[in-house]
Amino acid sequence: SDDYKLVSKKWKVKHTSIDLGDGVFIKEGDMAIMAGPCSIESEDQISKVIDHLKENDIKIMRGGAYKPRSSPYSFRGLGIDGLKLWHSLAEKAGIKIITEVMQVSQIEEMYDYVDVFQVGARNTQNFNLLDELGKVDKPVMIKRGISGTIEELLQSAEYVFSGGNEKLIFCERGIRTYEKATRNTLDLNAVPVLKDKSHLPVVVDPSHGIGIRKFVHQMALAGVMAGADGIIYETHEVPEKAYSDGQQTLDFAQSSQLARQIRETFALR
Ligand code: PEP
Ligand code: MN
Repeated sequence: SDDYKLVSKKWKVKHTSIDLGDGVFIKEGDMAIMAGPCSIESEDQISKVIDHLKENDIKIMRGGAYKPRSSPYSFRGLGIDGLKLWHSLAEKAGIKIITEVMQVSQIEEMYDYVDVFQVGARNTQNFNLLDELGKVDKPVMIKRGISGTIEELLQSAEYVFSGGNEKLIFCERGIRTYEKATRNTLDLNAVPVLKDKSHLPVVVDPSHGIGIRKFVHQMALAGVMAGADGIIYETHEVPEKAYSDGQQTLDFAQSSQLARQIRETFALR
């Protein structure tokens, strides 16, 4: 297709490996686990998640400082102060940070405190944001659009890649379909298709993909078997008290079990 080329396997045969430093990678042949709360809430919350991740040898923490909420009255995140606090604690613990950037003006203020910039499903086709992230020397994970096709996701990545930033990761996080029994429809078809078409790593987000806590682990493991290079999921000490997405968030016991099962399942692949 003429609509994208640099992110395709026709352009580059070798798999792209994302090196976050200190021996932490997101790459083909490996299984990156990224876990953390939907939103960054407080110093206490961050510390508890970091301790949990350390106990389970999970090297990458997710969390939102800028939150794209469907309602303007919902919690919208702690912003740059929350990100700075999080970064100071994570760096001491040797944990890498993946977090969402919502607009161009945030890139510069976030830059020193981020290991991977996340482009959320509501911004997959924010082409100005993608252009600016093309000029940045840090990895970018692009989530699939709410109603986005696989082809559109590839084209969004092409924006960043063609702008000069080749450190890209895809994330399948579910799409909107006619099905109402789940929050989204996790399209695991996207995993083999993206792996076939592109040299970039593919991550699955079962938390947003199904949106129901008790089903997250099954869809995570299905994602591993579908060929994902990483799994990103939500965890919180007390999911019921989380400021956002508690209904799909695992408690620490569930998260420990899932991290173990992800590794066991990956070893069977
Ligand atoms: C999130 O990761 O918390 C998030 C808002 O995800 P998405 O953009 O996939 O809805
Ligand atoms: Mn969330």
